[in-house]
Amino acid sequence: MFMELKYAIGVDLGATKTLVIACDTKGQILVEKQEKTPTSEGKEIVIKNTLKMIENVRDSSVLKERLFLGIGIGYAGLINYDTGIVRSSIMLPDWFEVPLQEKIEKHFNTDARIDNDANAAAYGEWWIGAGRGAKTMICLTIGTGIGGGLIINNQLYRGPDGTAAEFGNMTIDYDGPLCWCGNRGCLNPLASGTAISQRTVERIQQGKQSRILELVNNNLDEITPSVVAKAAVEGDELAGQIIAETAMFLGAGIANLINALNPDAVVLSGGVAEIGELLINPIRQEVLKRAFAIPARRAKILKAELGNKAGAVGAAGILISSLT
Ligand SMILES: [Zn+2]
Repeated sequence: MFMELKYAIGVDLGATKTLVIACDTKGQILVEKQEKTPTSEGKEIVIKNTLKMIENVRDSSVLKERLFLGIGIGYAGLINYDTGIVRSSIMLPDWFEVPLQEKIEKHFNTDARIDNDANAAAYGEWWIGAGRGAKTMICLTIGTGIGGGLIINNQLYRGPDGTAAEFGNMTIDYDGPLCWCGNRGCLNPLASGTAISQRTVERIQQGKQSRILELVNNNLDEITPSVVAKAAVEGDELAGQIIAETAMFLGAGIANLINALNPDAVVLSGGVAEIGELLINPIRQEVLKRAFAIPARRAKILKAELGNKAGAVGAAGILISSLT
C-alpha cells in the first residue's frame, strides 16, 4: 500500500528568537521560518505571534500533499510535560502557569507537546544529530547560560517535576561566583558565554595586556566567546588562559556527569561549543584526568551537529515519538 507522507511542526520559542520548522518523520526539514520574539510586548503577543508563524508554515505549498501530525514546542522555561503547562521562565518573565499545549491544540485542532528547550535540543541531537545511536546521552547547551538534556535508554529523562538535567546548576566551585539560581560556583557563572566574556573583561580591567582589545576596537562590551577564541588562535596569552580555565570547569562538570551516568556520548551545543576543538579537546583531556577510566574512555565528547535548529527539530521529534 502507498505510504502516506507525513510532517510535524517544531517550534523553538526563546526570549530572543522564535524558529518554526516543518519536518518529515525522519527529521528532514521541509520548511523553516524565523522571527525575533516580541518578548518585551508580553506573553499574549508572544503567543499570538507564535500561532501566526505556525499557521504560515503549515500553509506552505510544499506541505499540501502531506498529513499533518501535530506541533512540538521547545520553550525556554520550566515545563510540566505531562500537563503541557509552562510553569515559569526567567527569560520570558510574565509567564506563570500558562497552559500553552492546550491553547495550541485548540487553535489548530491537532496534537501538541511542550518541553523545555534544552530537552528539545538534546532530543534533536540524539534523534538525527551528533548523538545518533547513543543509548545514553548527555547534552550541554552552552550559550548565554548553560542548559542540559538527558537521554537514558533512548528516552528523555525529565524527572517527576520536569526539572532534571539542570547541568548548568551543578556546583563546581563551592565558594565560587554567585549564580542566578542563588547558589555559588555553579557551572553557569563559570563557563557560560556570559561568564567567559565577563571574566575576560575583568582581567583586562585589572590591567592584563591582550590582543582582544584591538579585536573589539577597545570596546569591552563587544567581547564575546568567539572573539576570545579568535585571539587564542592568534596566540594571545590571556585568551588562551580564559579558554583553558573554561575547559577545566566544563571538564570537571562533565567528569562528574560521566561518573554518575556512564553515558555513550556527551554532546556540546550552543554558541560556546561553536568554538570547536580549541575548547573541546582540552575538555576531553580534563575529563580523562578526572573521571573513572572506563566510563571516560566510553563517553564520546562531541560537538553538536544541528546548530540552532536542534531545538525546533527535537521538539517535532518529541511530538512524533509521543504519537507512536
Ligand atoms: Zn546555579
